[in-house]
Amino acid sequence: MREPAGPPPVIVCRDLQKSFRLGGGVVHALKGVSLEIAAGDFVAVMGPSGSGKSTLMNLLGCLDSPSAGSILVDGQDVSRLSTSQLAAIRSRRIGFVFQQFNLLRRTIALDNVAMPLLYADGGGGGRTARRAKAAACLELVGLGDRMDHQPSQLSGGQQQRVAIARALVNDPAILLADEPTGALDTRTGMEILDLFQRLNRRGITVIVVTHDAEVAAAAKRVLTFRDGLIVSDRRNERPRDLAAELAALATATTPREAVA
Ligand code: ADP
Ligand code: MG
Repeated sequence: MREPAGPPPVIVCRDLQKSFRLGGGVVHALKGVSLEIAAGDFVAVMGPSGSGKSTLMNLLGCLDSPSAGSILVDGQDVSRLSTSQLAAIRSRRIGFVFQQFNLLRRTIALDNVAMPLLYADGGGGGRTARRAKAAACLELVGLGDRMDHQPSQLSGGQQQRVAIARALVNDPAILLADEPTGALDTRTGMEILDLFQRLNRRGITVIVVTHDAEVAAAAKRVLTFRDGLIVSDRRNERPRDLAAELAALATATTPREAVA
């Protein structure tokens, strides 16, 4: 008998391979990765440096095409699309968050977040509509009071929140993050993870690359790469609950009279 169907996969990779020419030789970054990721999952991708994690993320994020094998994003085969076709899918279905935030330095948070809408269908409906959408996303990540700040006027954690708001502005089905807490202290990293868990509860599929087992412990599923292949794929029965951990920290460190 068939298993009852779970949520449909938002990502399906079949024997995915990616090679790079380097000098006179070839680097095989992915050597045949097969993988399904269900809608609504929260996946951590681990593995040593050079094992192919970022290469996979770039393929999932439609930033690059595979050398062989196939990849379906949200039901659509993106393996052999042109650069402009990939860009169109990326802007409609995928949000990307990077370790170094990658914000425009002399641009206020609101306009950083609104930027991807310029490249969306119909230019995001004009400047006022774009800014309204961006403002809603900044509210969602807890930065409603920092919209007119430039990146240099924000902390690292706040800058990463702006980057997450920017990743959300096109209502993506999938949020991809490559070492999103790598440049942050532990507490700030926890707040970012809490945000990812909240977004995941709203139905967004989250895929996070990390070398930190504590970060991976917040995911529902952990994939481990080695030498361009998946060597382990396990489910976390009890993922960390960052909202609960942060609440406990707050009561432990705040004097009682200040809580009120
Ligand atoms: P990870 O993110 O796990 O550290 P990467 O996916 O960045 O690993 O890299 C996997 C392998 O592919 C490494 O050997 C890396 O040097 C190589 N690689 C990645 N991108 C390129 C590229 N654009 N050109 C040449 N080699 C690359
Ligand atoms: Mg990497």
